[in-house]
Amino acid sequence: MKVQLLPSTIDECGKASTRQHLMSIIIDDRVAIDAGSLAFSCSEQQRADVRDILLTHTHLDHIAGLPLFIDDLFASLKEPIRVHATAEMIEGLERDIFNWQVYPRFSELSNEHGPVIKYIEFEPGSRFEVQHLRVDSVLVNHNVSANGYIISDDAISVGITGDTAETDEIWTKLNSISDLKALLIECAFPNDLDELAQVSHHLTPRRLERELEKFRNSGCEIHIINMKPMYRESIIKEIDDLGNERLKIFEVGKVYEW
Ligand SMILES: [Zn+2]
Repeated sequence: MKVQLLPSTIDECGKASTRQHLMSIIIDDRVAIDAGSLAFSCSEQQRADVRDILLTHTHLDHIAGLPLFIDDLFASLKEPIRVHATAEMIEGLERDIFNWQVYPRFSELSNEHGPVIKYIEFEPGSRFEVQHLRVDSVLVNHNVSANGYIISDDAISVGITGDTAETDEIWTKLNSISDLKALLIECAFPNDLDELAQVSHHLTPRRLERELEKFRNSGCEIHIINMKPMYRESIIKEIDDLGNERLKIFEVGKVYEW
């Protein structure tokens, strides 16, 4: 399975920066988890091939690229962009984004081949298929309805927490997966912003360390994602200070293969 976190911004030399403002992960160049930077930094091949987008939740950094991704492809789509989301997320997108005021309501528009967006609703906690992948969704603890995912192909599984504070269900689920090769877990704030992490339902390195006590899998890789760009350096230092050699920083743009 190929897993790539798309870049969000460029540095002063015009190269992809390591800072992650937006969240969009591409699996096997075909399925997107979140669409934060999807329209901005996917390759042209990915733009041509990604037709399934699986959302963790509807915060802006996870959906910012969705309206523009559909807009860019509007005339050329031969099949709709399939947005896999819960009823609550779909309602939020239609009410707050695709409302004609912020952006066109694509669900009411078609091109010469038919509809350009199709919502595929799933129940939190359910298992479903997206392309060649099996997806287990798990409700996590954020301040809107949010899901983490365990994504599996025929050979291996990868866990993605999405944005979350302390939670139990996803650990129970992760502990039951024998072919889990990697876990991508958020750590948005440094330890001195603990109060902000608490009200916004995110983790700090200290909170992450406590969460990992629930994780029984000793072989799987653990990668950190979703660090707020302003605090990236201090979060990395604090993660380093935990002295846990399993914890790695997930590199923006790099294609991981498991
Ligand atoms: Zn969020």
